[in-house]
This record gives sequence, structure tokens and C-alpha cells, in this order.
Amino acid sequence: MKLIFLGPPGAGKGTLAVKAVDLVKVPHISTGVIFRSAIAAQSPLGLKVKAIIDGGRLVDDETTIELVKERLVQTDAQKGYILDGFPRTIGQAEALAGFSAVDKVANFDIPDSGVLERLSGRQVCRKCGANYHIVFNKPVKEGVCNSCGGEVYVREDDREEAIRKRLEVYREQTAPLIEFYRKKGLLIDVDARPGVEEVVNNFKKALGL
Ligand code: AMP
Repeated sequence: MKLIFLGPPGAGKGTLAVKAVDLVKVPHISTGVIFRSAIAAQSPLGLKVKAIIDGGRLVDDETTIELVKERLVQTDAQKGYILDGFPRTIGQAEALAGFSAVDKVANFDIPDSGVLERLSGRQVCRKCGANYHIVFNKPVKEGVCNSCGGEVYVREDDREEAIRKRLEVYREQTAPLIEFYRKKGLLIDVDARPGVEEVVNNFKKALGL
């Protein structure tokens, strides 16, 4: 199954994708995770995108599309995928349609107030990318990832100024994808306001699983 997870930053796409992988048995491909690994490795890609990402802006379409295109030809993605954080612009969606046929697009819907609450307390594992929250989902040991023991930290782009910028970018460039995919008959709406388990159930129901 080829799925796209759409929704504003903080809708919980990353956390839900990790759960959904167990249900649909396809790899979770997050452009944000790929970019952050490149930054940590200080690769040429990482050096190119660091300032853009820290400021809450979008990496250019050409770089991002090429990255996803290369990832989707790998063996594990032949049976399907969950794309999390891609596409984020109409240009990316049009390019994707040229090299892969998506089955469904899950739109995780949440108002801005919920987004701010989640993002301002979010923490991430530097090693495996698992998401935590200082109030709703604390790691068992402070600063240490439950699943891999990696360091849990606050993303540079989860600071207030960058959060505001990311929401603005989402509204201007990514939200139009909702109608883009609705018109193609691919969109399923999922209420992302409740806790993780309930949202996973809403997602299962919406997909008919
Ligand atoms: P995420 O982890 O999905 O919130 O992504 C973190 C950051 O990576 C975004 O704020 C962008 O700067 C960059 N990024 C991730 N995916 C994309 C994309 N599809 N297009 C452009 N930039 C992206």
C-alpha cells in the first residue's frame, strides 16, 4: 500500500506513521528524518539544508524530489510506503505522480491551538527519530530514548519563532494539497485531536482495516 501522511507540523504524523508501519507492513519514509540524519552526518546535503530547516522554511523542490525519487526505487519500497512530510508543495505532488501512483492520502486534521501545544513540548531521539513530549509522552528516563537509548533533544525548528514560520509555510504551500488530493478521490480525513491510540483507530477505520 502506498500512503501519504498529510497534516500540519505537530499533527503527530511521525508518531502515527511508526504505529501504522506495524499495520500496513511498508517502510516509513520521512523526508524530515532523512534531512536531520544528513545534518547530523554533516554530509553535503546536510550542510546545504541546515539553515533552511532550522529557520522553519522548506528545502527546495528539486533537492527534495530527487531525494524521494532515489529512496522509492530501493527494494523495501517496492511493496509500498508511508510518505511522511512529502509532498509538501503542489510541485512535489505533481512530480511524485510522475514516478509513483499513490493509493491513499491520510489528512491528519488538527487546529492551530493543538499544534502549538504539541510542538512546544516535543522532543525527538537523535538516533532513531522517535518522538516524545514533555507532558503527554515522556521517555521513561529523562533525555534517553525508550527504544534505542539515543539522546532525546528539542529540535531547533521546534522553537517558537520556527514553529510560527512552519505553520505559515504549511498554510501557504502544503494545505492546498488537501484539495489537490480530494479532487483525485484519494483523500481520507482523520481527526488528529485525540491521543495517539484513538487517532490510530480513526486511521484504521478510515482505511477500512
Ligand atoms: P518534518 O520532520 O517533516 O517536520 O520536517 C522538518 C523540516 O525538514 C521541514 O520544516 C522542512 O524544512 C524540511 N522538509 C521536510 N520535508 C520536506 C519537503 N517535503 N519539502 C521541503 N522541505 C522539507
